[in-house]
Amino acid sequence: MSPLFPALSARSTTPALQFGDRTLSHAELATAAGALAARIAGAPRVAVWATPTLGTAVGVVAALLAGVPVVPVNPKTGERELTHIVTDSSPALVLAERGAELPPVLTALARLDTDVTDIAPDAAPLPAEPSPQAPALIVYTSGTTGPPKGVVLPRRAVTSTLDALADAWQWTEADVLVHGLPLFHVHGLILGILGPLRRGGSVRHLGRFSTDGVARELSSGGTMLFGVPTMYHRIAEALADDPALAKALTGARLLVSGSAALPVRDHERIAAATGRRVIERYGMTETLMNTSVRADGEPRAGTVGVPLAGVELRLVDETGAPITAYDSETVGEIQLRGPNLFTEYLNRPDATEAAFDDGWFRTGDMAVRDPDGYVRIVGRKATDLIKSGGYKIGAGEIENVLLEHPGVREAAVTGEPDEDLGERIVAWIVPAQADAPPSAEELAAHVGAQLASHKRPRTVRYLDALPRNDMGKIMKRALHG
Ligand code: ATP
Ligand code: MG
Repeated sequence: MSPLFPALSARSTTPALQFGDRTLSHAELATAAGALAARIAGAPRVAVWATPTLGTAVGVVAALLAGVPVVPVNPKTGERELTHIVTDSSPALVLAERGAELPPVLTALARLDTDVTDIAPDAAPLPAEPSPQAPALIVYTSGTTGPPKGVVLPRRAVTSTLDALADAWQWTEADVLVHGLPLFHVHGLILGILGPLRRGGSVRHLGRFSTDGVARELSSGGTMLFGVPTMYHRIAEALADDPALAKALTGARLLVSGSAALPVRDHERIAAATGRRVIERYGMTETLMNTSVRADGEPRAGTVGVPLAGVELRLVDETGAPITAYDSETVGEIQLRGPNLFTEYLNRPDATEAAFDDGWFRTGDMAVRDPDGYVRIVGRKATDLIKSGGYKIGAGEIENVLLEHPGVREAAVTGEPDEDLGERIVAWIVPAQADAPPSAEELAAHVGAQLASHKRPRTVRYLDALPRNDMGKIMKRALHG
């Protein structure tokens, strides 16, 4: 197998990683990560304290070079969850940026600083490239629907997903990625850091996302932006009074959104102000990337595009039978096969077994397909599919319509038990103006004017903010709690 990072092996002197005023070329990264790799080689598993810093990127690359499975840890994880992760994954040591203060659960482990200033270039040679099936990373899921599970990702999942994205996005060594995401999930770490390194291109990390940072980096050589919908929402809000931001986005080669559905309203506002359409891709911790709108394809608001090269995608109905109709109407659960898939949930043979249907991974995501094969995600089976009055109704479509109402800032739709309907549609609304929220009748009429009448919310509840996790995903299970 080819190495994970050809440009590192070739010791290319072009920029690889930039965090603030610290930059490493591929050659410098090869030296820094190689030195660290020599010190951890042979460890059964390591954790990385995944602050948004250069040290985190170096630590993860070092573990991959050493062939040691690496567990990225979200520094904001609460003590209980952190204890679960450490007990579950039992790392031999933790890599952390020099000076970073670790919580008690981690101070019990041996620690290595990911120092990149003090590099010993004559480090011991690295072990041979591990097999494609060897575990590369163990990434914990976002915990949106339950306690996080450790997803064991083999090296072939990482290489196949990154190469499929390179094909879909025409991603080359000339690309400079502007990055403002955290480094402990697939999106920010595997796509955002390992992606540019595998291509031989570069990444500029903003440290902390800001629309000013995006404008600055995209207008000074950045070519691509990866973001989650909350970032594109902030961009959409800022565009009206920020011509420099609009100009920077117009000049970008590719704007990509993922991790959750991008509201149609934000997609349209960005398109109107910049002439550019954000392209959406759909992935999961367990499967890495599954579908995307292609760079040379037609971006379409509300869709996540087509299956990536090598990915097999099918929709199945409630009886488990594959759906063959591409009619934008027939809803089924997305199931997947392909080299991009994980091997197992760590220490959870029960969950691993339950996740597969005859070799196909059950995503729990519900979708329809347009006649030309574009996938539209309707929502999660567990929280976004409402069974009301004999209909199966997706929350996302109603949320998109509610967001078009000028009195609505944020919206989430759920189902609640109802004697008459089975489930009743409930809209959770953050009003644009707290002292003048749109009434329940007004919102029901607004939805009724655009969608079938059985999709109108029956109950409206008002909130100051929606509960979201650190990727900006709405935590629907916290709404009813
Ligand atoms: P957990 O599995 O712990 O409940 P999670 O599913 O949120 O958390 P991730 O693996 O980070 O953890 O997220 C994958 C999910 O995110 C997908 O199953 C899907 O529901 C959602 N998702 C990702 N990209 C998109 C997208 N472009 N549009 C809609 N949903 C998306
Ligand atoms: Mg999940």
